[in-house]
Amino acid sequence: MGRMDNEPELPKVEWLNDRLQLTLAFSKRYKMSTAVCYLRLHFPQELSQHHDDEIETALVSNILSRLNRSIRNIDTLIKINRTDFAILLVDITEHDCKQICERMISSISDTYTIDYRHFSISSNIGICMFPYGAEEPEKLLVIAKAQMYVAEARGENQFSLYIGELDQMASRKVLIENDFPYALKRGQLHVQFQPQYSLEKKAIEGAEALIRWNHPSLGEVSPAEFISYAEEAGMSNQLFFWVFEEVCRQIASEKIRIMKYSINLSVNQLLLDSFLDDVKEIIHLYSVSAKHITLEITENIEIYSVKTVNERLIALKEAGFTIALDDFGNGYFSFSDFIKLPIDYIKLDRNFVFSLWKNKKHKGVVLPIINMAHNLGLQVIIEGIEDQTQFVEWAQLGCDIIQGYFISKPITFEAMMDSIAEIEERAEAVRNQG
Ligand code: C2E
Ligand code: MG
Ligand code: MG
Repeated sequence: MGRMDNEPELPKVEWLNDRLQLTLAFSKRYKMSTAVCYLRLHFPQELSQHHDDEIETALVSNILSRLNRSIRNIDTLIKINRTDFAILLVDITEHDCKQICERMISSISDTYTIDYRHFSISSNIGICMFPYGAEEPEKLLVIAKAQMYVAEARGENQFSLYIGELDQMASRKVLIENDFPYALKRGQLHVQFQPQYSLEKKAIEGAEALIRWNHPSLGEVSPAEFISYAEEAGMSNQLFFWVFEEVCRQIASEKIRIMKYSINLSVNQLLLDSFLDDVKEIIHLYSVSAKHITLEITENIEIYSVKTVNERLIALKEAGFTIALDDFGNGYFSFSDFIKLPIDYIKLDRNFVFSLWKNKKHKGVVLPIINMAHNLGLQVIIEGIEDQTQFVEWAQLGCDIIQGYFISKPITFEAMMDSIAEIEERAEAVRNQG
């Protein structure tokens, strides 16, 4: 079960359970304690977003040899995924285990130079001891992982040992991360729609599709909690196409009313060479016209080639799709890049505008943005409008489209269709009062 020097290949993750079983049986037989450690590497964001495989491989192989030097011959190191490792320390005391974890962390914590570029890497470790922490192999690993989140919450380069009580936040994270990959297959995902009210047309003219996950024990989990895991697990494309198809399937039945349906998109999808063909194929399958679909991209795309993004968006627009720039105000676009983007709508980010509101700076900042958007021929959507006062204020500021709990919470397609008339009447009544 030991490692070999300069061993390039690590035991694969499929072996993890076998190794665990074996190690634990061994520990039990000889009445030794074993530590199960869960280590996560933190790569700099630019590396994670770029998915530069060559650099990452070089980095990981450097880190592996450091890790191998920190553990003993009898220990086992297993790579679980891009960032995560399991380390089984056999016949070890709590004291020695902590020392080895400290050694692993400090051996990793460094600035690495590859191709004249510098990358700072840190790590966190969670530990669960056998047999004190738990006896079942799977449980040990889950606890160690949850404990890793406890360490992470304390800061960079920390480790944390499980002492009999599981942190709630950490175990929720582990549950979400471990279960999400099966959510789609198990039929736990669905789409809800949040209506968008046009002030000019005095009507609901669109709706944003928002994904929902009904977890068997956690209940409804927000995408804010699981989208990052979906991306990490390489599922973001699969998820997008599932939502896209689900929206097309549901709206295909709508004969009465012409509306636009917005679907959230990440740059990953936009950079797929077959993206345009794939979405065209789906709308064709459901006889949905591209003019009924709006794609929302987030502003957080400056690190990618703006030129490629531009080209892809132009092709989508030529095919009839509408483009909205989501979370405007939170991204890093330079002004010159922004004005080149072939978009139709900007969506002002809720946090961005409401923090301005608190400081009473909104008129000075938001008005020029709305005017600029209008001068560029764009429409402005404000998200997160929760009450009548906000609704009236944003209407007066010249916003075009209102989205938020005041209009409606995200609801099922049928519920939305049923409540459109009531929503429009209410909005109209409020405007007449204001
Ligand atoms: P977003 O695209 O900016 O979506 C708006 C979020 O604001 C939604 O949260 C919505 O439920 C929430 N919201 C709407 N009106 C109000 C309001 O009046 N008050 C408050 N407090 N919140 C409001 P949700 O559904 O939790 O989604 C969070 C984020 O997750 C979304 O932000 C979007 O970026 C992402 N997301 C949702 N569905 C999908 C999806 O299908 N694919 C992808 N890639 N991302 C998605
Ligand atoms: Mg959105
Ligand atoms: Mg948004």
